[in-house]
Amino acid sequence: MSEKLIIIGCGAAGITIASNVRKKDQAIEITIFSRDRDIAYSPCGIPFVLSGAIPSFESLVMHDLQYYKDKGIEIRINTEVTAIDLVGRSIIADGKHFEYDKLAIATGPLSLIPQVPGIDKAYPLRNLEDGKKVKKALEIAEKAVIVGAGPIGLEVATAFVNNGIATTVVERAPYILPCVLDPDMASIVQTKLERSTGVNLMLGAPLGAITDSDHEGVKSVTVGKEAIPADLVVRCTGTIPNTDLAREAGIEIGEVGGIKVDSTMKVKAIAMAVENVYAAGDCVEVVNQITNQPCLSQLGSTAVKQAKVVAENICGGSDVFDPVLHSAVYKIGDIQIGSVGVTYRDAKRAGLVPVVGRATALTKARYYPGGKKIEIKLLVFRDRLIGAQIVSEDYGVKERIDALALAIKSGMTVQQLLRVETCYTPPLAMVVDPLTLALEDVKRQTSS
Ligand SMILES: Cc1cc2nc3c(=O)[nH]c(=O)nc-3n(C[C@H](O)[C@H](O)[C@H](O)COP(=O)(O)OP(=O)(O)OC[C@H]3O[C@@H](n4cnc5c(N)ncnc54)[C@H](O)[C@@H]3O)c2cc1C
Repeated sequence: MSEKLIIIGCGAAGITIASNVRKKDQAIEITIFSRDRDIAYSPCGIPFVLSGAIPSFESLVMHDLQYYKDKGIEIRINTEVTAIDLVGRSIIADGKHFEYDKLAIATGPLSLIPQVPGIDKAYPLRNLEDGKKVKKALEIAEKAVIVGAGPIGLEVATAFVNNGIATTVVERAPYILPCVLDPDMASIVQTKLERSTGVNLMLGAPLGAITDSDHEGVKSVTVGKEAIPADLVVRCTGTIPNTDLAREAGIEIGEVGGIKVDSTMKVKAIAMAVENVYAAGDCVEVVNQITNQPCLSQLGSTAVKQAKVVAENICGGSDVFDPVLHSAVYKIGDIQIGSVGVTYRDAKRAGLVPVVGRATALTKARYYPGGKKIEIKLLVFRDRLIGAQIVSEDYGVKERIDALALAIKSGMTVQQLLRVETCYTPPLAMVVDPLTLALEDVKRQTSS
């Protein structure tokens, strides 16, 4: 009899586990349970369908149910798993037990919903269905409020502006992108964003309430004493790991609220030894490479990397998922924003007070038309890079963030980084790379 693999969740993590296991093992029976209707699509593309950069939601879908069926992967959509029985090695869905030899939990996140009056009037934006509803509402909206100035909130805000909608973003933190950037770098983005899009940013402004007004279908959003008129409100207020199933099954939940996994992505149970149960994606917590502390890394890139580790190990391998550096990049309007490692605030909290190196340079040679400013901030502790943030309205952010991730991961010193040969041609770079300028700034401070 062939082995049975059950996967709970059909998002980035779940579908990647299934596809990668199937590549290595043609015999294992694979069944995915998903409480959603849509499968195998990229939620990350939703804001760009709203902006019009991507023509339709269908473009975000990779494959349909039949494609997976042909590969011997059964996907049960609209089917919620209600319990995991670790002792009996089964899960319960639709009131029936389904036995497994190997189990992967990939239940993703749950939305963090501000507990304010009228919050049910705000649209969520987590999945394809949500995206379609927002797109429909967008067709008749004139004024919108986005709650939350994280990457998704700002991507959506610029998408709305592209549709000619007067858009306000309300954010309780005093600066935008609080989980990605330090206040000084956030302020650069804020200035660029306000100038290029006209989006109204209300910061340090916790949402008070969402109310219906006298006119049908029109709402207003209260922030402090101010009422902002809006006929469309979208909440982009972050997520927490979806761990209810795991917790109720007796699986250990960690300090920051995610499923606790070891480096092979195996879960631990509180009162018993469990074998062959893995977890991956937004539902797990991981270790931060810089602080060595548990943290959440709710990124599609992380989910896919973890899923590949799970797949390898399900197939008898011994792959590990390393501590994370949170390498992330976003495009908000024309602004590219990247970060890796820790922010200044998180470094300080962990007792690592960093030296800060900065550079404001250009993305092309001074004389080459079309060059844009590139702003770089590096955080260095005991001669080693622990964080970086980059902002520009041109290309070159992602590539530099990836290079810096490699530098941090391999523990390079500032001197070693300064010795790296960077490449140059006028249409693509300055002869001295902007990263070198920021490193030289660090060196000036540490050698004096
Ligand atoms: C609008 C948007 C933009 C984003 N942009 C980026 C980006 O630019 N870059 C980036 O790296 N990341 C981005 N992300 C984050 C990224 O999409 C997530 O990190 C990733 O999708 C997480 O994958 P996952 O498989 O863990 O969870 P999900 O993709 O959310 O999948 C969870 C699955 O679990 C299922 N499920 C949950 N509970 C049950 C249950 N009890 N029974 C059955 N099924 C269950 C759900 O139905 C779903 O299929 C974005 C997210 C959104 C929403």
